[in-house]
Amino acid sequence: MSERERIKANLIKEIGKCRSCRFCVDVCPTYQASHGVESLSSFGRLQIIKYLLKGNLELDDAMAYCLYSCLQCGRCEVVCKSKGQSLEIGELIQTGRTLVSQTLVEGKSNEKV
Ligand code: SF4
Ligand code: SF4
Repeated sequence: MSERERIKANLIKEIGKCRSCRFCVDVCPTYQASHGVESLSSFGRLQIIKYLLKGNLELDDAMAYCLYSCLQCGRCEVVCKSKGQSLEIGELIQTGRTLVSQTLVEGKSNEKV
C-alpha cells in the first residue's frame, strides 16, 4: 500500500467514527454565514471527504470550495469532544485538503481523489 493509500484509508477510518449527531454543525461559522448550507459545515465537510475518497462523489470546484472554506477555528472540535466524541475535525479536513490539492496538481480534477 502506498503512503497516499495509507493516508486515505486512515482518513476514511477516522471519519467513520463520526456518529452523525450533527452537534458540531450549528457552531461552525461558515455554516452560520451560509445560513444553513450543511456542506459548508464541519459535518458536511467530513461527509464530502468520505464520499470523495470512496469515489461516490466527483471532485469539482464546489467540493474544493467546501473544503478550503474551513477556517480551522476548532469550534466544531470543542463541541464534538464535549459530547464525548473525539474527532480531530480540523486535522481531518486539513488532510482531506492535502489529498485534494495533490489531485488538482496532477490535473485529475474530475477523477476521484
Ligand atoms: S459532533 Fe463529532 S460525531 Fe457529531 S457530527 Fe460532528 S464530527 Fe460527527
Ligand atoms: S474548524 Fe472548520 S469545520 Fe470546524 S467550526 Fe471551524 S470553520 Fe467549521
